[in-house]
Amino acid sequence: MASLSHSGQDACLVINAGSSSLKFSVIRKDGATGLEPVVSGQISGIGTAPRFEAKDAARHPLADHRWPDGENPGRSALLHHLLDWIAETLTGVTLVAAGHRVVHGGTRFSAPALVTPAVMDALEGLIPLAPLHEPHNIAAMRALAEIYPGLPQVACFDTAFHHDQPWQSQTFAIPRDLTAEGVRRYGFHGLSYEYIAHRLPQVAPELADGHVVVCHLGSGASLCAMRGGRSIDTTMGFTALDGVPMGTRPGAIDPGVLIYLMREKGYGADDLEKLLYHKSGLLGVSGLSNDMRDLENSDAPAAAEAVELFCHHVAKQAAALAASMGGLDALVFTAGVGENSTLVRSRVAEKLAWLGVALDPAANRAKATRISTQESRVPVFVIPTDEERMIARHTLDTVAVAAADRAA
Ligand code: AMP
Repeated sequence: MASLSHSGQDACLVINAGSSSLKFSVIRKDGATGLEPVVSGQISGIGTAPRFEAKDAARHPLADHRWPDGENPGRSALLHHLLDWIAETLTGVTLVAAGHRVVHGGTRFSAPALVTPAVMDALEGLIPLAPLHEPHNIAAMRALAEIYPGLPQVACFDTAFHHDQPWQSQTFAIPRDLTAEGVRRYGFHGLSYEYIAHRLPQVAPELADGHVVVCHLGSGASLCAMRGGRSIDTTMGFTALDGVPMGTRPGAIDPGVLIYLMREKGYGADDLEKLLYHKSGLLGVSGLSNDMRDLENSDAPAAAEAVELFCHHVAKQAAALAASMGGLDALVFTAGVGENSTLVRSRVAEKLAWLGVALDPAANRAKATRISTQESRVPVFVIPTDEERMIARHTLDTVAVAAADRAA
């Protein structure tokens, strides 16, 4: 087995736990303020046929382990395996904290939180708001607390960045008692937007106070209106279903369709959940794939239509968000599709030409950081996101503040 040695450096374990997989990375402190990824990987097939894979920072494989047929270790045993592997392989690196990506912080969590039994109980209360994700986030925290009780854990929320949006961005036009119960827009992908808010002033200092629309286009997709690095509005709402079409989710859909499906076709909540989370979006429209690469490489008319529908809604929402914050000084593309698809960026930009967006085709093909022409009224950027780094930063900061508080 390969061994990676770093002389006595503190590191953070970043965990993104899903229903059947757990993505992880180890990010070490590098100097006073820097952070350096060391390894990343995932445990997939949890509950069926688990597989542990890890790669170094240059994406070279370090580990690929499957368990023999009939052996099916649970989440806790798999986390044990991960921690043992880290201790064995990353000699010289000391894990000082674990940071979790947590999808929902509700109205309560507006910032990363040190994980305590009380915090885990509070997160249990948020499960109805994110039933497909939150239970797995909490299960990973509980398992880690059991097998490594001395390791501080921090919950980092995808909703937190949007917590202070204006009232009108957060509120559905429904009776106020429902709003008071928490039926409101929360927004997601906040760790990605926060990272972009941090990077953009480094890339374009003149935009530090600008009106910026960030398009986080991955297998999940949303857009965020940012002013001065703060979230003003976003396309995802109460759940991660709202907004633009995604790999397998439709984005915004007339709620009357759901009533029709229930009343006329006998759909129940589980059927709707399956339709809206797993069968719609690029997959549903193309009938082929949820992966933008497959659609771009396909000659099927339905594949081209799916790409076109996606770009139509991204451009429409970008314009809506510009109106929401009262201006557009820059456009940023990020995440898997946003960072890699020349076609999607170019189609979206064409549809926003009337707002003063003009791409430089060569810069767009070359994935330059700035892909607009010099004359473009609205500069356009491609900025790779790094949610793991954001989580590591929050985690190490939160643990340091907690330690300082204890010492005071
Ligand atoms: P993410 O969820 O941010 O990891 O993004 C994953 C998605 O990015 C994949 O499902 C693909 O649809 C898309 N993607 C990745 N690479 C490319 C590429 N070169 N061209 C188009 N789409 C891509």
